[in-house]
Amino acid sequence: MGRVIFVSAGPGAADLITLRGARALAQAQVVLFDALTDPALREFAPQARWVDVGKRGFCDATKQCSINAMLVREARQHALVVRLKGGDASVFGRLEEELQALAEAGIDSDVVPGVTAAIAAAAHTKRPLTRRGLGRSVALTTAMTREGDMHVAKSADTEVFYMAGRQLGALAQQLLGAGWSADTPVSVVSRAGCADALTSEHQVATLSEATVLHHGRPTVVVVGAGARALPRPASQAPGRDVPQAQEQSLTD
Ligand code: SAH
Repeated sequence: MGRVIFVSAGPGAADLITLRGARALAQAQVVLFDALTDPALREFAPQARWVDVGKRGFCDATKQCSINAMLVREARQHALVVRLKGGDASVFGRLEEELQALAEAGIDSDVVPGVTAAIAAAAHTKRPLTRRGLGRSVALTTAMTREGDMHVAKSADTEVFYMAGRQLGALAQQLLGAGWSADTPVSVVSRAGCADALTSEHQVATLSEATVLHHGRPTVVVVGAGARALPRPASQAPGRDVPQAQEQSLTD
């Protein structure tokens, strides 16, 4: 009887996996991987059999229960199975079902953490998710309920929405209804962490304008404090006129 390591692959680009994750891959006999993981990760485990159990959006889903069954079956036949998940395995990754299935079968497991899309988006835009004084809390949120309805609240200073890229107009309406003002800053980032990442800046009222740019790409929507532009450096401010004495003290 073997064991399973859930490895967080990071969002897209292979070099965002952790060293611990890469080491687990190097030991694996089998890797069950998701659609949003970079094919370049195969270099870390050329010895392993790679099995695509990908599910992207609502189409072409390998049913969760058959993934659970496959995990159990492979772990009974091999010393180490890696279950490779996009971003961080603990964030909207259906991890609970898979951990549960293994526990019920008496199979050991570990989880290797990773970079979730929200964090990669903040790095890409250089807009920190927390801000001194303004942004004291961050929520990772899916706007979609289990039934497929959209439901939005205002639960943190910065709210990062996953799985909402196809419905930005509806998201904007729900944000207004939940008490976010029309001029709240919003940044939209698709394929965060990848070489072809795209970002656009909006306000809640104009969020639907982002639809075309990010169409068909994995996208997160950052709303509130963490979407604010940083103040411009004083040296670029228009009409800057710093007295000599003050200028000196800035460079001390
Ligand atoms: N476990 C993943 C999230 C899986 S849910 C993580 O931690 O990132 C899938 C959703 O994640 C997508 O619908 C999209 O909203 C978001 N996502 C995944 N990869 C992304 C990326 N590279 N850039 C932006 N959003 C991404």
